[in-house]
Amino acid sequence: MLAAKYIPGEKKLSLKDVAIPEPGPKEVLLKVRAAGICHSDLHILSGEIPYTTSFTMGHEGCGEVVKTGSAVKEKFKDGVLYAVHGPNPCGECSYCKSGHDNLCNGPDRAYIGIGADGAYAEYMVVPARNIVEVPPGISPQVAAVATDAVLTPYHAIKTLGGVTHNTKVLLIGLGGLGMNGLQVALALEADVTVCDLRESSLESAKKLGAKKVFNSKFIEQELKPQSFDVVVDFVGRDSTFLQSQKFVRAGGTIVLVGLGSSQVPIVTASFATYQVKVQGSFWGTHKEMQEVYDLIADKKIKPQVQTAPLKEVNHWLEELEAGKIPGRMALIP
Ligand code: NAD
Ligand code: ZN
Ligand code: ZN
Repeated sequence: MLAAKYIPGEKKLSLKDVAIPEPGPKEVLLKVRAAGICHSDLHILSGEIPYTTSFTMGHEGCGEVVKTGSAVKEKFKDGVLYAVHGPNPCGECSYCKSGHDNLCNGPDRAYIGIGADGAYAEYMVVPARNIVEVPPGISPQVAAVATDAVLTPYHAIKTLGGVTHNTKVLLIGLGGLGMNGLQVALALEADVTVCDLRESSLESAKKLGAKKVFNSKFIEQELKPQSFDVVVDFVGRDSTFLQSQKFVRAGGTIVLVGLGSSQVPIVTASFATYQVKVQGSFWGTHKEMQEVYDLIADKKIKPQVQTAPLKEVNHWLEELEAGKIPGRMALIP
C-alpha cells in the first residue's frame, strides 16, 4: 500500500510502497477514507518539533474498519466511518480516568501520525478504544478534519476558554483551526471578533457569519485594549501573543493553541498587574470528539474542506506553508 513517511532530517515526506499492517490483539485495521493536513506537520518537517524516528504522518484520519484484533470485543459496522482520536490515550492512567485523556501519560503512548504511524496511507492500525463512530451523512473529509481542526478549537474555546453566551472573544488566526473555531464560538453564541493577515480568510469568515472581522495589520488601531474576556491565539508567534496580552481584559484568559514560535514573550508588568491567565491547550478528549460530531451532524459547524489525492501530499504541504490553503485540506488515498 502507499504510505507517506516522515524520515528524520528530511523536509519532504517519502512516498513508499509498504505492507498493509496487521492489527495487534486490541487494535483494528482501518481502510483510510480521508486524512487532513495540519500545520503541525510543517513544524515537524521543518525540525521545529523534532522527531528522531520514522513514521507514517497524518494525525487527522478516518476510515472503515476492515479487520479487528483477536481481543477486540466491540462489533464495528461495515461501511460506517470511524474517526481516529489522535492523542491515542491508554485508558488506564490517572489523566484518562479523570476525563483528561488528551493529556494521557500512559507508558509507550505515541500520538497517531506524530510519532506513531498515521493516516497518510491506504490503511492504518489503531487501538480499538481510540476510534469514534461518525454519524451518518458526514463526509470522510469532514469526519477526518473534525478530529483535530474542529476538536482542537472546541477544546480551546469551550472547555478551556469557558466561552459561552455573550462572552467577548477574540480569535487570532483563521486557518484550518481558526475557521472552525469561529464556527464553534458562533455556535456558543459568543460575541466574536476575528482577525488574520489574509484578506481571503477574512472574506470566508464573513461568509460564515462573523460580524467583527479585522485585518491583523490594523487591529492596534481598530480594537480597544483590554476589551476581551478571552483571546484565543491560533498562531502562537511573538506578535500574536503580544496582541493577545494587549487585548485581553484584566482577569481575562489567553488560550494558546498555535505553535508558531518555540517561545513567546510575556510583558511582565501588565501580565502581573492585570492578573491575566494564560491557558495552554492541547487537542481534545474522546468525549469532546463525540460532542463535535453531534454539532457537525446538527449543521451547527460546517467545516470547509478541499480534497486531493494522497500522492500529492508534498505539493499540498508546500501550499499550506505558502498560506495558499483556505481552511483545511484532506487527502484521499
Ligand atoms: P493554518 O496554516 O491552516 O492557519 C494559520 C492561520 O494563521 C492562517 O490563516 C494565517 O494567515 C494566519 N496567520 C499567520 N500569521 C498570522 C499573524 N501574525 N496574525 C494573524 N494571523 C496569522 O494552521 P492550522 O493548521 O490552523 O494550525 C495553527 C497552529 O496551531 C499551528 O502552529 C499548529 O501547529 C497549531 N496546532 C496546535 C494544536 C494544539 O493542540 N495546541 C493542534 C493543532 C494545531
Ligand atoms: Zn494537528
Ligand atoms: Zn492514559
